[in-house]
Amino acid sequence: MGDRLRFELKAKCTFSRKLKPAEATVEATMAKVAPLLSKGAPRGKEAEAARVTKWSIVGRELRVEIESGRYVRAHDALLRLAKLLGTELGKKHKLGIRKIEVLEYRITLPTEEIPKEAMRELKKLPCKIKAERQAVSLILHDLSEADLRGRVVDRLVSMAEDILARAPARAVAPKVVKKGKPVEHPFREDPFEVSKRLGWINEFPGRGQWIYGAPYTKLLRALEDLIIERVAVPLGFEEAMFPKLIPLEVMQRMPGYLDGVPEGMYYVCPPPREPEAFTGFKQKLKLTKRVAVGELDKALKAPAYVLAPAQCEPFYEIFSRRRVRLEDLPAKLFDRSGWTYRWEGGGVEGFVRTQEFRRIEFVFLGGPGEAVKIRDEVLDKSVELLEELGLGWQLLVATPFYMREGGIEADVSDSSKVATYDLEVALPYKREWLELGSYNVHRAKFVETFKIKEARGRELWTGCCGFGTTRWVAGFLAQHGFEPSRWPELVRERVEPLPQVPRVVE
Ligand SMILES: [Zn+2]
Repeated sequence: MGDRLRFELKAKCTFSRKLKPAEATVEATMAKVAPLLSKGAPRGKEAEAARVTKWSIVGRELRVEIESGRYVRAHDALLRLAKLLGTELGKKHKLGIRKIEVLEYRITLPTEEIPKEAMRELKKLPCKIKAERQAVSLILHDLSEADLRGRVVDRLVSMAEDILARAPARAVAPKVVKKGKPVEHPFREDPFEVSKRLGWINEFPGRGQWIYGAPYTKLLRALEDLIIERVAVPLGFEEAMFPKLIPLEVMQRMPGYLDGVPEGMYYVCPPPREPEAFTGFKQKLKLTKRVAVGELDKALKAPAYVLAPAQCEPFYEIFSRRRVRLEDLPAKLFDRSGWTYRWEGGGVEGFVRTQEFRRIEFVFLGGPGEAVKIRDEVLDKSVELLEELGLGWQLLVATPFYMREGGIEADVSDSSKVATYDLEVALPYKREWLELGSYNVHRAKFVETFKIKEARGRELWTGCCGFGTTRWVAGFLAQHGFEPSRWPELVRERVEPLPQVPRVVE
């Protein structure tokens, strides 16, 4: 069993008359079909294109077996082959194709031990599932030409890939690969409790939301500015502003969100622009002085957006269904324009796990080597900044399924094989670590879902690095405490004097 996605099909093409007299033409066509079956595969990935492994003639039928990897999948190759045969045999022998059928189709996905839960989900797919050593096969029978053209197989494969991609994320624990020098900080309190006491943050009726006061905000801005000055600017990232209201059709192209954690985001329902639709609601409000949620529900339309849970969604949309040239890349942008939203439900915790949080999102598009290099540079600069801030940190590798090729675990000494690094800071008050951000290379996954094309068919990769700046503040305060005279100079010079908080008489 190899380490790659594999497609194997057995098909028959039924012609209008007996094929025997045309055998030489069939043979000649088969001999020249190879380039057609690898056309469109990215350069260097030709080995993952399709090839005919066997064919024979039985009466009016041509029996054919085709094998492929991810690029130019076997069923697409079959349609191309059928078209070519139709033309050649039509010209020379007046033979036409009457029917194309796939008798058996086996698609093999590489994976490790499949967790029970994933297996249960796989078994709900409309095909036969067979677990093998380090692989799982989807087996289909009797597919019509309409099934093939309707992309049934491709959708089935991506559903199976998504199930597998989600499962090991829970099963495989992240692993610490690097650690900063130990730093001793005497501060031992929970910065969240201290912030509330000092009025740096204020309660808000929304669960998992806070009103961040002036001293907190000044510190957050100082850290954000440092991230931009020390990471974004030297690496040539330019600032952009991305929408935070994301239409469902854009969100649908983000792997792992609507299809993975639909329970983890906010949905937005636009109202109709008709005042009459709200008459009942307004009347109840006047009469009862209470918000009649039921009336509101009647007036609103179905959800059409989510509030950005990833913050990089709009970046890929810039290139979606368009062509770029590798020579014009990499494209490197960052967005610091707003909040990111996640519905954490009951999982909220202090100011480190909230429903809305600040993030600076770095995003990039380039060639495979380039994407990895950019991600690594952003990571290195982030670590340098943490050191300069005098913070204790550690780095972890978290590897999703589609990056783990062949072996049991990715080779962590080679960063091109690492999909995600998580950077964490120490929280001395509870002797734990807090994730500040993740540094991702998505390979071609987003390029595929957003249909981004390279002018000469060369491979493109994307990546993103999120700086959870509210968490940078939490980590900073947890280690350095609240006394600016004990803070590192490069922060102090930016925040002093700290603003006063409004006084409230109880
Ligand atoms: Zn992202």
